[in-house]
Amino acid sequence: MGIVHDAFLWHLQTEQADHDRAWQEAHRHHLAVSDLGHCVRKAYLRLRKSQETRPHDDYVLSLMRDGNVYQDDTARALAAWYGSQVHWDKDDPALCVGDDKWLGHMDFLVNAPAGPVIIEHKATNPDNFKNRSRLPYPFHCYQLAGYGVLRQKMGFPPAQLLLYYRSWGHWAEIELFSNECGISWEGEFDGECRDGMIETPVMSKMAAFEQWWDSKELPPRYETPLVAPFTCTKTDRHGVVRPGCLYFGVCWPEVQESEDGALDVSPWKQV
Ligand code: SF4
Repeated sequence: MGIVHDAFLWHLQTEQADHDRAWQEAHRHHLAVSDLGHCVRKAYLRLRKSQETRPHDDYVLSLMRDGNVYQDDTARALAAWYGSQVHWDKDDPALCVGDDKWLGHMDFLVNAPAGPVIIEHKATNPDNFKNRSRLPYPFHCYQLAGYGVLRQKMGFPPAQLLLYYRSWGHWAEIELFSNECGISWEGEFDGECRDGMIETPVMSKMAAFEQWWDSKELPPRYETPLVAPFTCTKTDRHGVVRPGCLYFGVCWPEVQESEDGALDVSPWKQV
């Protein structure tokens, strides 16, 4: 039986994979604002057009597709509510930010009477609402704060920074305050107020990426392939560790991989 799922997989492997390739092509010569908070070596390898050893699998492509579906739905809501005050079309040049080194595309920009509002939209796993320490992910905060920095460099006035999460049955709306001390945040998670602080300022993160890019030296890999989620590996619900990065084979050629993609990471588990 694959009457529906075969169609869905075909759709993923064509439209979503094409979308992913178009993104890679558009960011061939620039650091991506969405790189901020992630592995600097990964950004460097992409810019150097290193061979991807681990293209996105169907699971990751389907998560990306879910994110686009949620975002399209929120775009319709914002367009209906704010009318011409909101920029939401992905091809709208008003959503593009950058300079000679960086390029990014904001999800939404609202020209509110009190001033501009940049909105970064993320779909996320409902489990992230059960584990209270997970959201907001620092890399989402750095991405949004990076848009704010670049937009001001382009001569626009400071903007309010909003991060909006949607999930099955959950939502969070979080405002960021970014300055030379770091990024503080406060927001509502399913209506409950919470706040927090990320201590490394976005400018320091951006400077670190620029420094590696200018030096033309490959940044070092992490000390282990198990360093943290969203880096080299991912662990599935059965505890099986698999490659989690497009460049896993470039960075960790010595790690044995079984036929079904499971990795032997026992040497690092003992560290
Ligand atoms: S495999 Fe790990 S160290 Fe290498 S680019 Fe990916 S995240 Fe960075």
